[in-house]
Amino acid sequence: MANVQNIKGMRDHLPKDMLLRQHIVAVITQVCQRHGFDPLQTPIVEYAETLEGKLGDDESLIYRFEDHGGRRLALRYDQTVPLARVVAQYANQITLPWRRYAIGPSYRGERPARGRYREFYQADADIVGSNSPLADAEIISLLNEVLTELGFPGFVTLLNHRQIIGGIARVSGLDEQSAGSVYRAIDKFDKIGADGVRNDLLKSGVSEAAADRILALVQIDGSSDAVLEALSEQLADDERASAALENLRAVIVGLAAMGVPEERYRITARLARGLSYYTGVVFEANTPHWPEGSLLGGGRYDELIGQFAGRPVPTVGLAFGIDRLHDVMLELNLGPVSTTAAQVFVTIFNAETTAASLDLARELRAAGLNTLIGLDTKAGLGKQFKEADRKGVPFAAVLGPDELAQGVVVLKDLRSGEQRSLPRNEVVAALMSYNGAHNA
Ligand code: AMP
Repeated sequence: MANVQNIKGMRDHLPKDMLLRQHIVAVITQVCQRHGFDPLQTPIVEYAETLEGKLGDDESLIYRFEDHGGRRLALRYDQTVPLARVVAQYANQITLPWRRYAIGPSYRGERPARGRYREFYQADADIVGSNSPLADAEIISLLNEVLTELGFPGFVTLLNHRQIIGGIARVSGLDEQSAGSVYRAIDKFDKIGADGVRNDLLKSGVSEAAADRILALVQIDGSSDAVLEALSEQLADDERASAALENLRAVIVGLAAMGVPEERYRITARLARGLSYYTGVVFEANTPHWPEGSLLGGGRYDELIGQFAGRPVPTVGLAFGIDRLHDVMLELNLGPVSTTAAQVFVTIFNAETTAASLDLARELRAAGLNTLIGLDTKAGLGKQFKEADRKGVPFAAVLGPDELAQGVVVLKDLRSGEQRSLPRNEVVAALMSYNGAHNA
């Protein structure tokens, strides 16, 4: 027999999971479209050279292969690099600034762990062709709306700027080359703590005095204003960091004007974000209920598209991890819990009444109700109730000879076992009011 196993790190999503995932995708789609973002879809396979050289140290994560024509291809590891290709390739069809969203799978050959997969879905939203801090603020406001609508309690978006980390490295006396090791060390702060970061910095050749200065700066905490002020003072001699702090301040002003509550974001110089293409503001959203990783990540990348387009195209965007949102929602019992999309099961009493049952099913479907029908004209009602109940369908509708004669339908609530006889023309309204109340 063939190996009946899916590939490690790549998951099957059975209906119960898919219904929650579809809910997540629907909320993201609605919020994106409400903000004027338009959909884009690109292939999961790209020329390897399109994807290479943009990921930083982690190039080994890319799945690469040769196709039948000997071309070097690769599976995309995000939807940002394909976006950059699209912007360059269709330059004359795209009006900048361009807001696009994209939802689909990405692939990384990571070591699978809790919440970390090799195939995972991301929902990206980017604003291409604007360097306005309002664009950064709009992306953060959008993510705030998505997480709020999905019902996440207590999430916080952490904000930083690449040139703040750069400035911290520079005022600590490090050259551009060593700044890379500062990014990498700071990125691990939450996992290995201050002592761990210090050790890492020392190991990479940073002096004790510089390591202490770096650690003191990245541990500045407080309200957004207080952190901005303290960092502005400490980094006053570094022009690029000062400009970055001004930029972050403008983003915060935009967030307040867009109505994002202050407790929903925090500025911290500890946030590095792995992907090497970021050039400006970086952010990620976390929840205390999932310490293993972020719900989403994003930032400004003003140079990536230029690598394809040959001219600068400043861009800011984010990627929600659909799998991450899903895992945390399951853990917190958020979102719809159901094992089937069907709302009612129309039973078949016998061969003679089958046409009437099918007619009722058609009427329910026309009214927008997700309707299942029995398929076995010889199965008893009890067997059909059991089938519907095991699938998790909340109601069964019965239309036997007695009901037909009286012009009624019996509606059975499969959870409580309660049943009511209703005039045929009231069935749709009864099911609708149940679903209305259920979804409220
Ligand atoms: P990144 O593209 O690395 O900035 O990641 C953006 C978001 O995608 C993260 O915040 C995660 O929610 C999700 N994500 C990234 N890598 C994985 C993975 N290997 N498995 C599941 N989700 C992931």
